Amino acid sequence: MRLHEKEIFEIACGRFGVGAFNVFNAEQAKGVMLGARRSGRPVIVQITPVAREYLSPAFIKGLLDACENDFPDVRFSVHLDHGNRAHCIAAIEEDVYSSVMIDASHEPFDVNVAMTKEIVSLAHAKGIRVEAELGVLSGVEDHLSVGDDRARYTDPAMVAEFVSLTGCDSLAVAVGTSHGAYKFSGGRGLRTDILAEIRDQLPKNYPLVLHGASAVPENEIRRINLAGGTLKTEAKGIAPEQLAEAIKLGVAKINIATDLRLIWTRVVREFFRNNPEQFDPVTVGKIYISEIEDFVAQKCLSL
Ligand SMILES: [Zn+2]
Repeated sequence: MRLHEKEIFEIACGRFGVGAFNVFNAEQAKGVMLGARRSGRPVIVQITPVAREYLSPAFIKGLLDACENDFPDVRFSVHLDHGNRAHCIAAIEEDVYSSVMIDASHEPFDVNVAMTKEIVSLAHAKGIRVEAELGVLSGVEDHLSVGDDRARYTDPAMVAEFVSLTGCDSLAVAVGTSHGAYKFSGGRGLRTDILAEIRDQLPKNYPLVLHGASAVPENEIRRINLAGGTLKTEAKGIAPEQLAEAIKLGVAKINIATDLRLIWTRVVREFFRNNPEQFDPVTVGKIYISEIEDFVAQKCLSL
């Protein structure tokens, strides 16, 4: 059952965090639906501009329609992740997304406000919610690449002004996580102190969003490397107990992309190492779907 993001937050608010999973293909979409169904929890399916370009907006729409049709018992909403102005405007026109993220956090405060405000006004006219970002996350997600040196935490003193000037419906904050497999490089951890200060500046239950919230399990990295991968062993994600604390401090939406990629890498590497005579994408695809199901079910229940 496809819901509006607003309804998803109403269900989850104050009870648990909502997993927002990035989906790039049919296997991931089906795995996320199966996992959500098993957990009984609602989920947000996130589509990046790269996913829209990789397949096409029409392909993506078809995937999401199939999710709705094949999984009437799964409550999900569809979100555009990391859109620029053009991506957001296109998505707002499509009748597929109930929320979009305008990512102007790399711009100066005033420009971020102006760009976000414009998208909020276009989106709200169509009943679509807007996630904005204040503070820059380091790491790489699709087209984004922000060096660690430029990474900045969200300044709690600017949060209330930003939300009231822009009218954004949820806010992605930079509190120490980064995109990709190499989080917390330089020994920084999740800054729950900053998160608490941010929350105190906003109305009760205002939804905060944590990007780069994959766990990057050590065992996953080890298995990938045993099967021929060369991922750096210092790859590190966010620990479950840190995530739980962040949710207590007002994080309502937890963005997860890297973990789904690591599962793919591990499944495919191990499969072809163990079955070098095989060449069937369906056989390995079935394993991937089932592994995504397990991961998503477990993750949703832990949030
Ligand atoms: Zn992100």
